[in-house]
Amino acid sequence: MDNLDFTPAVGDLPFTAQQRTLLSLANELGRTKFAPRAAQWDQSASFPFANYEDLRQAGLLALCVPKAFGGGGADYATYMMVAAEIGRFCGATALTWNMHICSTMWTGVLADGIPMTETQRAEHVKRRELHFARVVNDGAIYAQPFSEGSAAAAGRAPFGTTAKKVEGGWLVNGRKIFASLSGAANYYGILCTEDKGDEKPDARDTLYLAVPATSEGFSISGEWDPLGMRGTVSRNLAFKDVFVSDGEQLMPRGVYYKGAQTWPAMFFTLSPTYLGLANAAYDFTVSYLRGEIPGEPPVKRRMYPTKQIAVAQMRIQLENLKSIFARVIQEARPNPSPDEKMRLYAAQYTVMEGANDIARLAIRTCGGQSMMKHLPLERIYRDSRCGSLMLPWTAELVLDRMGRETLYRPGEKDD
Ligand SMILES: Cc1cc2nc3c(=O)[nH]c(=O)nc-3n(C[C@H](O)[C@H](O)[C@H](O)COP(=O)(O)OP(=O)(O)OC[C@H]3O[C@@H](n4cnc5c(N)ncnc54)[C@H](O)[C@@H]3O)c2cc1C
Repeated sequence: MDNLDFTPAVGDLPFTAQQRTLLSLANELGRTKFAPRAAQWDQSASFPFANYEDLRQAGLLALCVPKAFGGGGADYATYMMVAAEIGRFCGATALTWNMHICSTMWTGVLADGIPMTETQRAEHVKRRELHFARVVNDGAIYAQPFSEGSAAAAGRAPFGTTAKKVEGGWLVNGRKIFASLSGAANYYGILCTEDKGDEKPDARDTLYLAVPATSEGFSISGEWDPLGMRGTVSRNLAFKDVFVSDGEQLMPRGVYYKGAQTWPAMFFTLSPTYLGLANAAYDFTVSYLRGEIPGEPPVKRRMYPTKQIAVAQMRIQLENLKSIFARVIQEARPNPSPDEKMRLYAAQYTVMEGANDIARLAIRTCGGQSMMKHLPLERIYRDSRCGSLMLPWTAELVLDRMGRETLYRPGEKDD
């Protein structure tokens, strides 16, 4: 591997020059800046603003904005590799950065593979310029609050938040829960249902709108004191007759619904954070057993066969996570084949459940002293527990989809 003096969280793949540069940058930022600060955000459940300043200065907020608009022009696979590297050092930073990056990927590299009419395409090309310019020129941060506590975020019902067409824009009403970056984002990229009068709401009328944080009628509420991923500050949002101008549409009317079907790999974008955490738990265990954790007594624990076996088991699991992750990010594309889709589900389950399992083994193997709050392992363990709760691809829903989609072909029913 040319020029890399470390093994990235994604593994040792044949990287492009751009990927090598970005992975080195993420590793350097992570080791020197994000890891030393991670405890601080976790303790106070506060947003990692200082890390965002570093991301901004490094050009990483604009990573997936196409080059033609002044961004980094990174594709899906490149983003996923870099995100895993950041997750290795600070889970909350990687997870929130994902929400921001996805807002630029949906509108950027992915939109190009989503079917649109000529009029929709022309509208989209014109409108996305505004969003990209904010990110590139002003360092704006976009959140991605989709969840509402209903079946909508699981893709099983229309969103309860509505947008009614008015002169020059939309009137938004509703609420969102678990809005990572609440209070930190400049724009909240919400999914809502177009209110077409008294017709039955339809998920095909999903709109994707950016609500400016300064909008009248927009508010943030609720406590934020969770088990893990505390620095994400994922509080509740309320929208009361919020006027959002036409220009704030992140996708033309009706296109998001098609996009979600066309690009299922987008729902896998929450996983690199957790691949990073799995690497972090493994890295910590190796250093701890070798007596190499800075600031700790140089006690070696590596001579016990039980610990050697546990490290081997962790490595086997980590290699499994990396292998399936690397495969699916490289084959990700619009309209994947049924096998590719199954593999995406399997990868999501493997990474989300596997990360927590590796963290569990790490604590068991390192022992009681390793779970003290001044060491990162207990935070990694708590953060890693959150992965399989993320909709629409929770561990439960992935199992549900895989079983059903294997045993029933499209349209098949039992009489
Ligand atoms: C740290 C963190 C950050 C988050 N950040 C964001 C964010 O930025 N944006 C965002 O949109 N969301 C975010 N979420 C929300 C997340 O994606 C889920 O929406 C949320 O965790 C769901 O809450 P719940 O488990 O109470 O949901 P519930 O609706 O109570 O579901 C509980 C479980 O039941 C299962 N389930 C749900 N619906 C169905 C169904 N129709 N059929 C079968 N089973 C079902 C699922 O396995 C689900 O995990 C975040 C969550 C966490 C933990």
